[in-house]
Amino acid sequence: MQEFSKFPTKTGRRSLSRSISQSSTDSYSSAASYTDSSDDEVSPREKQQTNSKGSSNFCVKNIKQAEFGRREIEIAEQDMSALISLRKRAQGEKPLAGAKIVGCTHITAQTAVLIETLCALGAQCRWSACNIYSTQNEVAAALAEAGVAVFAWKGESEDDFWWCIDRCVNMDGWQANMILDDGGDLTHWVYKKYPNVFKKIRGIVEESVTGVHRLYQLSKAGKLCVPAMNVNDSVTKQKFDNLYCCRESILDGLKRTTDVMFGGKQVVVCGYGEVGKGCCAALKALGAIVYITEIDPICALQACMDGFRVVKLNEVIRQVDVVITCTGNKNVVTREHLDRMKNSCIVCNMGHSNTEIDVTSLRTPELTWERVRSQVDHVIWPDGKRVVLLAEGRLLNLSCSTVPTFVLSITATTQALALIELYNAPEGRYKQDVYLLPKKMDEYVASLHLPSFDAHLTELTDDQAKYLGLNKNGPFKPNYYRY
Ligand code: NAD
Repeated sequence: MQEFSKFPTKTGRRSLSRSISQSSTDSYSSAASYTDSSDDEVSPREKQQTNSKGSSNFCVKNIKQAEFGRREIEIAEQDMSALISLRKRAQGEKPLAGAKIVGCTHITAQTAVLIETLCALGAQCRWSACNIYSTQNEVAAALAEAGVAVFAWKGESEDDFWWCIDRCVNMDGWQANMILDDGGDLTHWVYKKYPNVFKKIRGIVEESVTGVHRLYQLSKAGKLCVPAMNVNDSVTKQKFDNLYCCRESILDGLKRTTDVMFGGKQVVVCGYGEVGKGCCAALKALGAIVYITEIDPICALQACMDGFRVVKLNEVIRQVDVVITCTGNKNVVTREHLDRMKNSCIVCNMGHSNTEIDVTSLRTPELTWERVRSQVDHVIWPDGKRVVLLAEGRLLNLSCSTVPTFVLSITATTQALALIELYNAPEGRYKQDVYLLPKKMDEYVASLHLPSFDAHLTELTDDQAKYLGLNKNGPFKPNYYRY
């Protein structure tokens, strides 16, 4: 508990990973909340609401939005067919029968599909939001109408945030036996307030970088008292969420905020890991001239082989039109760089929450800030030069664009399978440690998504399987394979 408390949490604001789960204060605009303006100002905590079956076991902004939310969920279901097929496959046997899952994730149409899948697989769920801005109120209403105990609304206060988590955990006659967390706040709360709950918990499934980091720290200190599954580092998350999601959303975020044209523009991308590779592929396809900065010779060489110039940021900072950080590091773009940028240079971050660009250094008296659009600031130097800062250095795609449902489906399916695995694992398979999903399950997640593309897998012949030393049904790669 002590170890866990060392990490800054809501009040000392931590920054979280993407997972589609950054910090609970990073905004996340999806198709969310067309309905907000019509909502009254009364706090949901003050309202007496019941669903059509007479239950009031929830707290959402407005239960009357349920029908609209249901349509949003149905739209998401169209691109989350893997979860739907998981529901169908598990119609007879309910692999989560008896599971009581307490969850804390973004509450969006896509997570609603996950939550309803868990219910269809036999689980009872109580849910709160991991981000105070990201809840789609109408979706929360639809979940409440469907009987899920959901406690979340868009624009929760600090106090509301913890109250909602508490309402999920602290319920007479109901005790959670599984945790699904995104960011570690829920896990932290249970450690701090209800450590006895861990006596019944069979496992924690965690999605975010920060949450996973916290779990590893606990494990290292010998204080993790249940097995935990690190979904963040599963192949199906790293390779799809980081690479393909960023490939799809970088342009969306930049265009929505700045209407910039990319053809012929000079862009420098800091970091050529998964996120950087995704961003560069999209930028290159639109005809941008892309430079890379890297600290790692392997990634630098990959960038060279992919046809990019690898440079130091200093070498190109005066000439580039756009600067994008994707390193997971801190102070990659410093005040010195910002001082040397040309007029109208766009600066944004796709990597770690808000550490990569030294935004604090721009809050000095000689610089003027002008909010020109939502999430777009012009920072003006005394000589009139303007730098266009997006989302105040927080994650561009989470703040300013949508994230593709299909990618979220891959992560959600991984989460569902991690829960099934931990819940059903025989005693002793998992100790009080942090685990990656077994490779075979990663492969299963991928295979559930193949029918969407009408992709036809080749089956190994007996002879070929023997030759390669593989089981015909997988796993097809050793754990060290890098894809
Ligand atoms: P990664 O480790 O694969 O890539 C990061 C790269 O940055 C590495 O190759 C590293 O060598 C390089 N790097 C580190 N410091 C650097 C510096 N000072 N200058 C230049 N290069 C440097 O990680 P990744 O999967 O690409 O993720 C990067 C970050 O993006 C992480 O913080 C991750 O949480 C976040 N992320 C964001 C999204 C999103 O939707 N925006 C999605 C997934 C992950």
